[in-house]
Amino acid sequence: MERYFSVTFRIANSIRTKHYKTEQSAMRGIGKWLVKHQDECDINASFFSDTQGHLSFDAPFEASPLSDSVDFYKSKAWLKLRLEALERYGRRCVSCGASVQTGVVLHVDHIKPRSRYPELALDINNLQILCEACNLGKMASMEQDWR
Ligand SMILES: [Zn+2]
Repeated sequence: MERYFSVTFRIANSIRTKHYKTEQSAMRGIGKWLVKHQDECDINASFFSDTQGHLSFDAPFEASPLSDSVDFYKSKAWLKLRLEALERYGRRCVSCGASVQTGVVLHVDHIKPRSRYPELALDINNLQILCEACNLGKMASMEQDWR
C-alpha cells in the first residue's frame, strides 16, 4: 500500500490539495509556499501525518538559530505582533533595504534575543525587520540594533 502525505493550501476561499511522497518533501513544499505567498493576508497550509498529527501553518517558518522553541513562532500572540511589526516598520530590511519585491525573505528579528530576554519576546520595541542575509550576518555580532 502506498502512503502519501496530503497538504491543503488555502488562500482566502481558494483551496488546493497536493500530495507528497514523504513528510520531508511535504514540509519543504509548505515552507516554499508560505514564503511565496507571505504577502497575502489570509493564507493557511494544513498537513496531517500519523507521526506529527495535524499541523497548520499561516506564516513562513521563522528558522532562527536563536529560537529554542518552535512553538513560540506559531503562537497567535507572536503571529499578531509579527504583522504589527511589519506594518509599523515597513516590509523591508532595516539594514540593507531589501524588500519582498526584490525577492528576499524577511524575518521579524528580536534585537535582544529571546533566549536571554524572554520578557522582551513580545515587546514590539524589541523587534526589527531584517532580510535573511542580514539576520544571519547579525549572529556574528549579537544584539545589534540597526535602527
Ligand atoms: Zn538586509
